[in-house]
Amino acid sequence: LPQDMSEEFSRWEERIRLDQDSLPTHDIFRKIDRQHKYTGLKLGGVYGFYPQFTGPQQSTIHSAELGEIVLMGTNSYLGLATHPKVVAASVAAARRYGTGCSGSPLLNGTLDLHTQLEERLAAFVGKPAAVLCSTGYQTNLAAISALCEAGDLIVMDALNHRSLFDAARLSGADFTVYRHNDMEHLEQVLRRTTGRRRMLVVDSVFSMQGTVAHLAVLSDLADRHGCRVYLDESHALGVLGPEGRGAAAAADVSARMDLVMGTFSKSFASIGGFVAGDQAVIDYIRHNGAGHVFSASLPPAAVAATQAALEVSLCEPDRRARVLAAAQYMSTGLARLGYQAEFHGTPIVPVILGSPALAHAGYLRLMQAGVYVNPVAPPAVPEERSGFRTSYLADHRQADLDRALREFAKLAQDLRPERTST
Ligand code: PMP
Repeated sequence: LPQDMSEEFSRWEERIRLDQDSLPTHDIFRKIDRQHKYTGLKLGGVYGFYPQFTGPQQSTIHSAELGEIVLMGTNSYLGLATHPKVVAASVAAARRYGTGCSGSPLLNGTLDLHTQLEERLAAFVGKPAAVLCSTGYQTNLAAISALCEAGDLIVMDALNHRSLFDAARLSGADFTVYRHNDMEHLEQVLRRTTGRRRMLVVDSVFSMQGTVAHLAVLSDLADRHGCRVYLDESHALGVLGPEGRGAAAAADVSARMDLVMGTFSKSFASIGGFVAGDQAVIDYIRHNGAGHVFSASLPPAAVAATQAALEVSLCEPDRRARVLAAAQYMSTGLARLGYQAEFHGTPIVPVILGSPALAHAGYLRLMQAGVYVNPVAPPAVPEERSGFRTSYLADHRQADLDRALREFAKLAQDLRPERTST
């Protein structure tokens, strides 16, 4: 593993710049050559995106080339993607309703399954109503662009998920950010923007950092400054709070959240998203959220899997404790090896290496050794926080975690000490 890959990066970039000159300046595709981050990784032999797997998301995952790999980079936190009850419900729904709905939920695309899941999810997060969209990303776009428009102000944590930023841009509203989890900064922003129609949009668990929003303080500030709150509970539902009802429930502020959204692609082992709130607001999103109206409804198999995963998560509460224990065990083990690893009481444990090239090279090295982690680099995180996003499942086996720690120990020997210590 090269000690410092920045020189190599410059060499790759130089080669790309030369290639780029062969296209006329008015060619819209000229920018494609400038995707130097990816092309550079390829030239340097450390491009690792799109690894191909041949099995489900479990403690280990199968690769045709590398065999069984310890999986430390999945959002299937409760390990329910292969749960017999979840799989059986999904298969039964496909048999009964077919494989797709082929239409907008507003028209021919709504099944009894969709309506039942909406009602179940609304009750789960303690709201009167909910509406489904086909992905979590789309849910944020649909809900926020329906509710906010030019002249409104969206206030966001600087480390919110990309879908929330894209939603804000799509809405046409102004938006402003406060420093990550900095409640004093948020208060300054709210004080400065008094009198505007505002919505505070925030992740409850931050996807790359695993940190948790200070929801009690945030609710007080929103109340005091007359600001609506939209909470993205994607990484919290199923894991945090009583019965996995989320970070707002954990902080006892569910009633103070105007809207709560979640995805099915994480703990609920499926795909899709929902947003819940008061009936009139949800009805408004149903009729004005383009991502809901102009996109086909979720396939029956995905809806049934989500519903079953939710029920299993309630019947098997030890899964929540197990995923958090795995995350804590690994963060302690990684810190002992000298890594800058963080644990914030969530299944996400970031490991900071400080450079995108090291993140990719380290990721490939671990993968070859049979351990999968997610490499993270800009734009997902600022450059200095590049490294690995590790995340855990309830059904991680102890032997797999220990095997991973042994490979992390070997990798640590190749990394400069200052890159791996705090
Ligand atoms: N919100 C957050 C906080 C996320 O992390 C993600 C996905 N990683 C989404 C929304 C989008 O969800 P989906 O992948 O289901 O579209």
